[in-house]
Amino acid sequence: MPLIASVLIDGPSELVFDYAIPDELKVLPGCRVRIPLRNRHSTGTVLRIQESSEADFSLRYLTELVMNEPLVTPSLLKLAEWISGYYGTPLEQVIRSVIPGSIRGEKSKDKTRKAVLISKLPADEELQHLAKRAKRQHQILSLLQVAASPIPITELGGASSSSALKALAQKGWIQFTELKVRRDPDANETFIASTDLPLNEEQAEVLEIVSKSLSSSGPKKPILLHGITGSGKTEVYLQATRAALNLGKNVIILVPEISLAPQTVQRFKARFSDISEEVAVLHSHLSQGERFDEWHRIRSGKARIVIGARSAIFAPVVNLGLMIVDEEHEPAYKQENPPKYHARDLAVVRGQLEECSILLGSATPSLETYQNTQLGKYDLVQLTQRADGASLPLTRVVDMRLEARKQKGREAIISDILRTSIDKRLEDKEQVIVFLNRRGFARSLQCPPCGHVIECNHCAIPLTYHRADERLVCHICGHQAIVPRQCPNCKDPAIRFQGYGTEKAETILKKVFPTARVARLDTDTTRRKNALRNTLRDFRAKKIDILLGTQMIAKGLDFPNVTLVGVLNADLSLYAPDFRAGERTFQLLTQVAGRAGRGQMAGEVIIQTSTPHSPSIQFARHHDFQGFVDQECELRKQFHYPPFTHLALLLARSSHERRAEFTLQTLHRKLAQNLPKQIILGDPIPSPLTKSHSQFRFQLLMRGPNARVLSQHLNEVLRATPTPEDVIVTADIDAYDLG
Ligand code: ADP
Ligand code: ZN
Repeated sequence: MPLIASVLIDGPSELVFDYAIPDELKVLPGCRVRIPLRNRHSTGTVLRIQESSEADFSLRYLTELVMNEPLVTPSLLKLAEWISGYYGTPLEQVIRSVIPGSIRGEKSKDKTRKAVLISKLPADEELQHLAKRAKRQHQILSLLQVAASPIPITELGGASSSSALKALAQKGWIQFTELKVRRDPDANETFIASTDLPLNEEQAEVLEIVSKSLSSSGPKKPILLHGITGSGKTEVYLQATRAALNLGKNVIILVPEISLAPQTVQRFKARFSDISEEVAVLHSHLSQGERFDEWHRIRSGKARIVIGARSAIFAPVVNLGLMIVDEEHEPAYKQENPPKYHARDLAVVRGQLEECSILLGSATPSLETYQNTQLGKYDLVQLTQRADGASLPLTRVVDMRLEARKQKGREAIISDILRTSIDKRLEDKEQVIVFLNRRGFARSLQCPPCGHVIECNHCAIPLTYHRADERLVCHICGHQAIVPRQCPNCKDPAIRFQGYGTEKAETILKKVFPTARVARLDTDTTRRKNALRNTLRDFRAKKIDILLGTQMIAKGLDFPNVTLVGVLNADLSLYAPDFRAGERTFQLLTQVAGRAGRGQMAGEVIIQTSTPHSPSIQFARHHDFQGFVDQECELRKQFHYPPFTHLALLLARSSHERRAEFTLQTLHRKLAQNLPKQIILGDPIPSPLTKSHSQFRFQLLMRGPNARVLSQHLNEVLRATPTPEDVIVTADIDAYDLG
């Protein structure tokens, strides 16, 4: 009796069929296979191997293995099934995230180079003959003799000549072969080795707790490391990683976005430069070939440390001992396309499946994670002091409403206090970071007489003026328009710009501080490869005095000479129509303030705002995480928001407004029938972003104590309710982006 493989067929139909395994094939769960399907061939992923099948007809044999080894481990298959159930996403779609196209694709291959090696040494007199008569051939043989291993033909230098090589091969002295070449994403970089720092008492205690978890057996509680900015969390990650390696276990480190954490990656590469072959990096900027190579280095066990953005949670690491999630509160861990998973939450689930230790770190933990420590599900450890003996910066809040009055109607961008402070820092040859969470030149174009605002034709948001290319740009869909001379609504030429973004702030900073060297970092200035890295390098080398940027510069950067951080408009994230707006603002302000005074010199933070008394700003000002969570949790509890409930967002979008709305209303009616106990079903409403990419958007929120109950009820209704072809309905469990 042949063994049976249950195969999940590639494609949207979510089919699982059993196939008999030919004797000569070694098929394991996670293998990619080719199978006959009706009268054609298809490919699929093996989910399980069984002794028998429930199918009552005779099974067909699977044809062949696409690749000899399984691409995922059995526990990653289990994780995929968990994701499918929890987020209500078809398993096939989940598997496509777990095994990305560049890995499963049959087109991807190892990169090889032609090389030659010695197969038989000629006799002495033949060698002498060659030395006289065929210098090239003689040279090649001598090189190969010294090397004792294959040499790529391109590295034979002047000696390489195809006729000489051919002649040597014909005489049977050398043979051709192929050498595998690793496509190393960081091949052009050198990392200066760093050594472990002696830990302070708090750090040592944390490492001790992580080490205990590492060497204990059985299921483990995740550990939340709440450490203020600059408290030496990264140093703890580094030493915990070493501890895991010493126990023979492997490690995954997740960072929110590689571009936001260049320094963290560099610090890992530097610390482990003695075993740089064992470090792999996975992120979205890799080429297909680089990703393919890194993946296989991980799967084969060659790479033992994996650093990556959220999708690295699916790295096929074997013998996983530790997963570290840096800046666990970051929304970037949430994937916004199906499967809409949260990588930090998956780390915890994968940790349970593989009984590995989990370390979640942040200066501003999410309320979800914090609440889990309160419930005793996670352990909480803290770092309360800055590691290098520095103290937290002094923070001042400037009321911009008063400033606007002082500056007589002109839009106040830089307050007097901030200007004087920057001047002083420049004089003392110290550096300044200026933070503004909006890119572009001006926010929008508005006509004062009629109030008309120029909006995107495809999205219901104002277009943003970008001066560099004299264009109005939509920050949602990228649509560009030329700047009108007069109001398209009332024809008044008085139309003018309101608000400001980083591009305008840069102009102003250069004008106010004419001798200062100012650089800007945002998605507009970092499109070119290496732009971010180069700017940060120049800033470190003190070739830049003022670094201005969006949230790209808010976290993770460690520049000891920065003594002042200015926040230009702290209210931007507060205005978002989202119950997490306060939390986001608190996190952003705390993180950006943490860039100041990380060296020997005291730091200062100046926050400009029009709502100086908002709790998020005041708690951030006093570095009071506990005060913030206590008050925020009170509110969330009272209004049944996460972390006290789970939340699902149901979105219907269509280019046909009525149909989108009607579809959502229908779904709402059906959801209301047999609504499971304790679920709060919100009304269907237009999304805060009412139109995007030419599609009208309607949404409703559901909240309940159990995410699976939400997800099941939603999916039952969605499956039973046909929707018009031109309406797209999506569900987002534990949603972060609230439309
Ligand atoms: P975090 O990750 O919490 O923001 P870092 O790990 O970046 O903190 O540490 C902040 C600074 O303190 C870094 O410059 C780091 O080199 C230094 N540092 C960390 N741990 C120690 C230590 N035990 N002794 C001295 N300096 C330390
Ligand atoms: Zn648009």
